[in-house]
Amino acid sequence: MKVTIVGCSGSFPGPDSPASCYLLESEGFRLLLDFGNGSLGALQRHAGLYDIDAVCLSHLHADHCLDICGYHVARTYGPDAPYPKVPVYAPADAPRRLAAAYGMPDEPGLESAFDFVALAPGSFEIGPFTLTAGLVNHPVEAYGFRVADRGRVLAYSGDTGESSELVRLAKGADLLLCEASFLDRPGLPADLHLTGRQAAEHAARADVGRLVLTHLVPWNDQNKVMDEAATGGYQGPIELARSGATYDLA
Ligand SMILES: [Zn+2]
Ligand SMILES: [Zn+2]
Repeated sequence: MKVTIVGCSGSFPGPDSPASCYLLESEGFRLLLDFGNGSLGALQRHAGLYDIDAVCLSHLHADHCLDICGYHVARTYGPDAPYPKVPVYAPADAPRRLAAAYGMPDEPGLESAFDFVALAPGSFEIGPFTLTAGLVNHPVEAYGFRVADRGRVLAYSGDTGESSELVRLAKGADLLLCEASFLDRPGLPADLHLTGRQAAEHAARADVGRLVLTHLVPWNDQNKVMDEAATGGYQGPIELARSGATYDLA
């Protein structure tokens, strides 16, 4: 499995990265994990506009799903339209919410381009990938994912506060993409986001091979996020996500 970080900016796009979007490729199949604002542009550096086979949305905050709207335009009105519908795995409210974001009535919504599949906790197949979705701790229905392909495993936190489910999803993963939105300070809200230290603590408990800190909020000093991650007791390699970075988990 090849993992490309398309977007890793937290909560809104930054100067050097769109919001959350990760491209997973195996056996010629291309799966997007999240499709945050700005990511459709950068995605075209890494894949053909019409070469996405499936999309999986962790939750319905704008920074994780909004470029579904632009992609609907591309697949509905592009020069060779109609294109095959793309399955979109997402919380059950996605068809209504994304139709509203686009300015489309619920019927037909965005169904000319997409087949929506409601997520629920558990395991399922998307192309060559076996995904396990688990509910994480965020103010809306939000999932973290474990993605397995031929013995290699990627785990992705989505957006979450401290979560034993994230540790379970990430157990023994080769790579954990874990959000690190907060810098530590007194009175941080629970069940919203993680600090770098908390991300590293989750990586240590799950005994992952590599930790990549993501969902990096532009107003933070990312060097401080890294400094805090170094205090989390995780002994493996830690790095900051970067738009365009790739990881080959073959
Ligand atoms: Zn977010
Ligand atoms: Zn969120």
